[in-house]
Amino acid sequence: MERYNIAIDGPSAAGKSTISKCLAKKLDMTHLDTGAMYRCLALKAIRLHISQQDEEALLDCLKKTGILLKGEQVFMDGEDVSQAIRNPEVSSAASNVSKWAKVRQEMVARQQVLAKEKGFIMDGRDIGTVVLPDAKLKIFLVASVEARAQRRFLEDKLKNPSLTLEEVRRSIAERDRQDETRLASPLVQAKDAKRIDCSDMSIEEVVDKVCSYL
Ligand code: C5P
Repeated sequence: MERYNIAIDGPSAAGKSTISKCLAKKLDMTHLDTGAMYRCLALKAIRLHISQQDEEALLDCLKKTGILLKGEQVFMDGEDVSQAIRNPEVSSAASNVSKWAKVRQEMVARQQVLAKEKGFIMDGRDIGTVVLPDAKLKIFLVASVEARAQRRFLEDKLKNPSLTLEEVRRSIAERDRQDETRLASPLVQAKDAKRIDCSDMSIEEVVDKVCSYL
């Protein structure tokens, strides 16, 4: 059977991880969440008080950090950080550390090694443009800020009852701004990617749409 990779890119909270997980199950492929790798570096930088503005220190830290994606679990230096990397402080720090070209180069190299065997659904911001330019299928998944904020709010409200919709909306808009305007691999749609606006689509509808392109 032919083995291939699928790239799923798009802005924060568009549903990339959810769709990638469902697709991986349906197509018997492996999901790799590259955002989790930037989140690991962000978490470590916070813990070690490394400045998110110091590119060399972040690169040095990353080089000494083991990151393992195992199913939906994420291990950093052997510690299960699957929950710890999901808090809002880490989300915003991940966006900060990911703007540095040297950090991105190291992450991309690791991601390319991971995907070499093929059979992966990789989600992120630069997968179709930089990490897997030869992916068999590239999807650019978008949704309105309003739809993304609503979805993220419903998820995060359970963990943080004092959270407001406006806070979530602001945080998503700020991460969009940072991801789209950074100099190193800004978030852009690959020329050969299929764009899906999932603002008003169910998970099943998006999965079916993606499969229709295969
Ligand atoms: O996808 P997720 O929201 O978990 O990613 C966290 C942050 O990591 C994003 O806001 C983005 O700045 C960065 N990221 C990136 N390139 C990727 C994946 C994530 O710059 N391939």
